Amino acid sequence: MAQLPLQLPSLQNWSCHSCGGCCRQHLIEITPEERQRIESQHWTAAEGVPADRPQFVRLGLLPGSKRYRLGHQADGACVFLDGQGRCRIHAKFGEAAKPLACRIYPYAFHPAGKSITVSLRFSCPSVVANRGKSLESQKRDLKALEKLVVPEGAERMPPPEISPRQRLDWPETLHVVQQIDRLLAADGVPLMRRLLRTLQFVKLVGQAQFAKIRGPRLDDFLQIVSEAATAEVHDDLATISEPSRAGRMQFRLLVAQYVRKDTFAEQQSGWRNRWRLLWAALRFARGTGLVPPLQEPFVAVGFADLEPAFGPLPPEVDEIMTRYLRVKVQGLHFCGAAYYGVPLVEGFQSLALVVPAVLWIARWLAAGAGRRNLEVDDLARALAIADHHHGYSPAFGLANFRSRVRSLASLDDISKLIVWYAR
Ligand code: SF4
Repeated sequence: MAQLPLQLPSLQNWSCHSCGGCCRQHLIEITPEERQRIESQHWTAAEGVPADRPQFVRLGLLPGSKRYRLGHQADGACVFLDGQGRCRIHAKFGEAAKPLACRIYPYAFHPAGKSITVSLRFSCPSVVANRGKSLESQKRDLKALEKLVVPEGAERMPPPEISPRQRLDWPETLHVVQQIDRLLAADGVPLMRRLLRTLQFVKLVGQAQFAKIRGPRLDDFLQIVSEAATAEVHDDLATISEPSRAGRMQFRLLVAQYVRKDTFAEQQSGWRNRWRLLWAALRFARGTGLVPPLQEPFVAVGFADLEPAFGPLPPEVDEIMTRYLRVKVQGLHFCGAAYYGVPLVEGFQSLALVVPAVLWIARWLAAGAGRRNLEVDDLARALAIADHHHGYSPAFGLANFRSRVRSLASLDDISKLIVWYAR
């Protein structure tokens, strides 16, 4: 099969720094061939693989299920992870001997008509920190991975809808995406203003009927809408009003999804964990008293403690969040097949909401450490926590999560939340 050309995000670097975080956070489903291959490696307790834990665990409730995942150690880490955060399979047999899911992480490949876009998961701290080699310099390895994960006929996959029942062809859809990227990249404009302009642009695009705006007319339309969106966002963001009461409640419920921890260890705790999550959801809906700490870095602080201004954001936040948004947009990691089949407009609104969610989580981390200001490390950790779920947790594709995003958009609260938590 002829391979499609790769579109790489030019602003992102990455190399693995063996933190082992991904091998603790994820369930790794394996194919029968991968299981056979690992079995033939004959791992023993003498090599550090725990003898009292299964190396493979059957998935699914039906007794005949042929789906398996890798086993975990008592602390939730993969059975093949060593004490130094290294993969034993990789160390002994090389990178190609690992399951495909491990080889791909943190990359994501998405069909884009006659090419394939590459995005990255910011749940990896090295991605957040932009640490490692440029993706361009790793093109040969990425082409090898593309061969393994991109299915035949990927060029025939349809583009995402722009909004419900409004679909353009691939080149036109990519023009809309490029215009979003241009607005996010605008030189000399602070991040929050760029983001608000882009949200306004996307909102106007969502109101368009594209039947007569095709071909060359589309570029004129996109230009006019960009200029209108830019003019509509006031230079002084302090003039933007506070988020509505209903919007704040919807937002807290949305954040509650981002601060959950869905690792093997949590899933094993059964009903006790479900009751804990239900109780936590009620507390997030009410928004009074203490924020229930849903995973380890968090400590109980008051909901009210997270609402006052936390002072100016550290200067690095502009670069980190701009890179995050642009990598996701360029990589088509926010809509269509890569994001629960959601249309482009709703997908971008959902992506924009990651920004106030990250700021809220960062405030929680800072307040837990007794600070009233944000440090860049708070933001970096908050982004890794949020992006672990964004586009991957099945809950984000469910009707209630999606209607929360649409409701925040229709209340015009997304921009207000961004400005509120950035102050
Ligand atoms: S097989 Fe290796 S890379 Fe994959 S989760 Fe286990 S330790 Fe990590």
